[in-house]
Amino acid sequence: MIQMKGLTKSFKQGQEQTKVLKGIDLTIKEGEFVAIMGPSGSGKSTLLQLVGGLDLPTSGDIQINDHQLHKMNEKERTIFRRKHMGFVFQNYQLLPTLTVKENVSFPIHADRKVSKQDEERVNQLIQAVGLDGYGDKKANVLSGGQQQRVAVARAIANQPAVLLADEPTGNLDREKAEEILHLLAEFHRKEGQTIVMVTHDIFAAGFADRIILFKDGLVDQEIRREDEQYAEYLAHFMA
Ligand code: ADP
Ligand code: MG
Repeated sequence: MIQMKGLTKSFKQGQEQTKVLKGIDLTIKEGEFVAIMGPSGSGKSTLLQLVGGLDLPTSGDIQINDHQLHKMNEKERTIFRRKHMGFVFQNYQLLPTLTVKENVSFPIHADRKVSKQDEERVNQLIQAVGLDGYGDKKANVLSGGQQQRVAVARAIANQPAVLLADEPTGNLDREKAEEILHLLAEFHRKEGQTIVMVTHDIFAAGFADRIILFKDGLVDQEIRREDEQYAEYLAHFMA
């Protein structure tokens, strides 16, 4: 359902054009949970930006279902994003002075008028992420782990087809990270979103169906859960 062909992205750095993505060919199936790993600066976040329609490729195609993102202007991409994509970032990016409920409702509100049913979903999500009773609290009084749980609820509030997560556990200790990953896995199991998660953490990547290794703007390696070498591969990283 997500199809990238010959995707490149260059940025101007001083006088020079630096090619950050050098030709990515990648297909991600509907409902797949994919982890992208690789060294800092290898282009992982840049790729997520393109998949999320936050930026345009320099060349190449990116298609999500029937939508050709590389052909859309900014306004079309914004509409597409609000309808179909959810985002979780390393630093939570909640609206600090809004309440938990307002934060979780935000993507629905941006897309359309919030219905009674939507309100119910928002309340259910707040409960599902373990924040029952926190709905009317301002986001900025919550701990980091709690804020990221709000961010996960927010990301899926509008039932996006695709959930993009950039280092969602990067600021959290192991216990809090586990909570977030279990939430993602649980929502993925129940609602079947396609998930693309960038992570440095092999433990986090172990939740995915497929691990894609980036190196210097290209896909270097891929391994699937059903591959024989999968366990060995994880163990090698963990060592
Ligand atoms: P990763 O997420 O794998 O650490 P990024 O995709 O964030 O890597 O960045 C890859 C390279 O692209 C880095 O060298 C970074 O400085 C550069 N880069 C990313 N975004 C921009 C931008 N908006 N303008 C200029 N350079 C950028
Ligand atoms: Mg990054």
